[in-house]
Amino acid sequence: MSGNLTIALAKGRILNETLPLLARAGIEPEDDLSSSRKLVFETNHPNINLVLIRSADVPTYVQYGAADLGIAGKDVLMEHGGDGLYERVDLNISRCKLMTAGFVDKELPRGRLKVATKYPGITRQFFLKRGKQIEVIKLFGSMELAPIVGLSDLIVDLVDTGNTLRANGLVPLEHIMHISSRLILNRASLKMKNQAIKSLVSRIEQAVEYD
Ligand code: AMP
Repeated sequence: MSGNLTIALAKGRILNETLPLLARAGIEPEDDLSSSRKLVFETNHPNINLVLIRSADVPTYVQYGAADLGIAGKDVLMEHGGDGLYERVDLNISRCKLMTAGFVDKELPRGRLKVATKYPGITRQFFLKRGKQIEVIKLFGSMELAPIVGLSDLIVDLVDTGNTLRANGLVPLEHIMHISSRLILNRASLKMKNQAIKSLVSRIEQAVEYD
């Protein structure tokens, strides 16, 4: 049906801030997303469904139109590249920084640095701009462990409070970019379901809180 909308949401940390934002926009899931094992959720709107997936998969679902809209971090969007997507609203939630990090007092090798990260694309670009040769070591989690066990010289990861780095004897070094979550739209859906999407986007825009 042309009026039906699916919104892709990311599991994990982002969800705690996404659900209150959607509630302020008048959209509430019928089940508890954090405790349920379901992946598709109905909402108080008969025409709006939510799908709950890994954050790195949100842009892919929206790119291929499996979801009309999605909420994903700028980190994930940059790494994805943005094909087929339209980045529409900065939701001002899940704010943090993408940074390089390492040991404070450790001299780095002169040759190619080894950098562990979930973000190989952004990382290569960042070091390339600085004229530094690196070897990217792609990891899916617990990046902080890599320098401790000698797998890498540095890491590139999201930093919020800095507690995770500190707890592992690491320090933030260079700031790569500010991150926040964005509302993204599938380009074809925007044409075919224009009215429904416009009205939803405007409700979400009004629900964004700026400090
Ligand atoms: P913190 O200890 O508060 O600096 O948080 C760092 C840890 O939380 C790292 O494992 C990050 O990958 C993760 N993290 C921080 N901010 C975010 C965010 N906005 N979205 C997803 N993961 C995050």
